[in-house]
Amino acid sequence: MSDYDVIVIGAGCGGLTAGALLAAQGRSVLVLEQSGRIGGSCSSYEKDGFTFDVGAAIVEVIQPIEAVFRMLGTTFQEEVPLVASDPIFTYILEDGSRITYPQSIEATAEVIERISPEDAASWKAFTKYFSEFYDMVIDTFFTSPANTLGDFLKMFSARPRILKYLPLFAGNYEDVVKKYFSHPRIQQTIAYQSNYFNLPPVLTPAIFGMLAYAEHLGTYYPEGGMIAIPQGLQRCGKRYGMELRLDARVQKVTVRGRRVGGVTLSSGEQVTCDVLVSNINCRTLYLDMIGEEHVPRLARFGLNSYKLSGSDCVLNLGLDYEPPLDTHFTALATSVETMNRENFERDRGILHDEKHGLICWSSRSDPSLAPEGKHSLGFIMEGPYRLQGSDWNRERQPVMDKTIAWLDRLVPGLSDHIVTADILTPYDFEERLLLPEGAIYSFELDLGSSAVFRPSAKSKFIDGLYLTGNSTHPGGGVPVVIGSGLIAAELIDRHER
Ligand SMILES: Cc1cc2nc3c(=O)[nH]c(=O)nc-3n(C[C@H](O)[C@H](O)[C@H](O)COP(=O)(O)OP(=O)(O)OC[C@H]3O[C@@H](n4cnc5c(N)ncnc54)[C@H](O)[C@@H]3O)c2cc1C
Repeated sequence: MSDYDVIVIGAGCGGLTAGALLAAQGRSVLVLEQSGRIGGSCSSYEKDGFTFDVGAAIVEVIQPIEAVFRMLGTTFQEEVPLVASDPIFTYILEDGSRITYPQSIEATAEVIERISPEDAASWKAFTKYFSEFYDMVIDTFFTSPANTLGDFLKMFSARPRILKYLPLFAGNYEDVVKKYFSHPRIQQTIAYQSNYFNLPPVLTPAIFGMLAYAEHLGTYYPEGGMIAIPQGLQRCGKRYGMELRLDARVQKVTVRGRRVGGVTLSSGEQVTCDVLVSNINCRTLYLDMIGEEHVPRLARFGLNSYKLSGSDCVLNLGLDYEPPLDTHFTALATSVETMNRENFERDRGILHDEKHGLICWSSRSDPSLAPEGKHSLGFIMEGPYRLQGSDWNRERQPVMDKTIAWLDRLVPGLSDHIVTADILTPYDFEERLLLPEGAIYSFELDLGSSAVFRPSAKSKFIDGLYLTGNSTHPGGGVPVVIGSGLIAAELIDRHER
């Protein structure tokens, strides 16, 4: 008799989703989290009276999250009040000019029309094309397993019209931007979205063009900060009896024969289970915690061949004035060519003084995130793990200073009004969240590491072991890992009776 039916390693959004849904299936579930806080990269912390986000700062494509909360007997909006960001974005472009896109697709067409009538017509064609594609994949791709080619084909066999979109599976994001848009300023606003994937437009899969459409369906920020999402999941899980232990680091996974048996914590304590769900980087799981002797040679080769995804830096500022910005989200955008070049330079460890990234003015949507009359501002920007001729211990302060000076040019008065400042570097993500090399999506989100090519949600060589989160299909991003938690729970329901 095991201590628990299910143990979940890691209280990120993927682990909490799987844990809550499995508890709702009537199983005894224990979630083990090594840090003192839930949510992993989708979390928030306090400093000097301000609430700042750890990593994720924007919520889009909420259908998988809504589906999970419905399965937990409630609704996303009821558990996690969301503030819609409308206008969605102000883009500050390479030439310093600004464009603001409202949520409405028609109103956005009017904004584009004033700059380029030709691109306004293309915007309508672009949104029509991707709305049809989005509707086809949103209820399948993000919430269905892709363990085998058969799964993948099954996913789409009911939707033969998907064949029309086959070129999307071979193309890249740059092709999409240039096919539809010709004005350099409009191109920059559409190209910006490839930043989310931590890949240059030339390597970002063309299918992600759907994001530039989908954010017009609703772009949100949760009241209480990003941690409100994992808190909502934990609360639902608790209603069904899910247990959570913080400061509980799993060191080893026990495998007997071919079957998982439990875990050993860093304290030496052993806890047994029938089923194990891993919400952590699966290369660490298989090669360090389970041990190479239990992993077939081909699988070891496969695991070692995945390229870790890139990392980022997050600068968090507490301000004693209202920043002169128009929207919660301000994207510092640039041309496709600059994005490609900077990305390849980043891979070589080169940092840029002019940072392109996302300014997130969280206290605009939720004033309670800062003391009365003050404001919380985050900036997500480049952060390669390896730096040419230096490292993050040396660069932490200079990068913070240079970034503040750069932002001060775009947000007048900023540097005179900072009352507290903090920077999270790839080293922090590695040390605090145990993300190898700070890789924010575990492995790259290119097509070669997606769907059937990403590690399988149901282990192919260890019985009773399931993956959720960044490491497995459908990949990284908050709604996406929540979809992966749903997939893990459904696979367990099917296979572990
Ligand atoms: C800077 C940054 C910006 C981002 N921006 C966005 C955004 O705006 N929108 C968006 O949708 N996504 C964004 N993302 C991505 C998104 O945050 C992640 O894809 C998602 O949160 C990952 O969730 P997860 O469940 O896979 O696991 P994680 O969030 O990685 O959580 C895993 C948990 O496991 C714990 N853990 C690790 N090892 C052990 C162990 N041995 N024992 C016990 N516990 C362990 C960790 O402490 C952690 O809490 C961003 C990420 C970062 C870092």
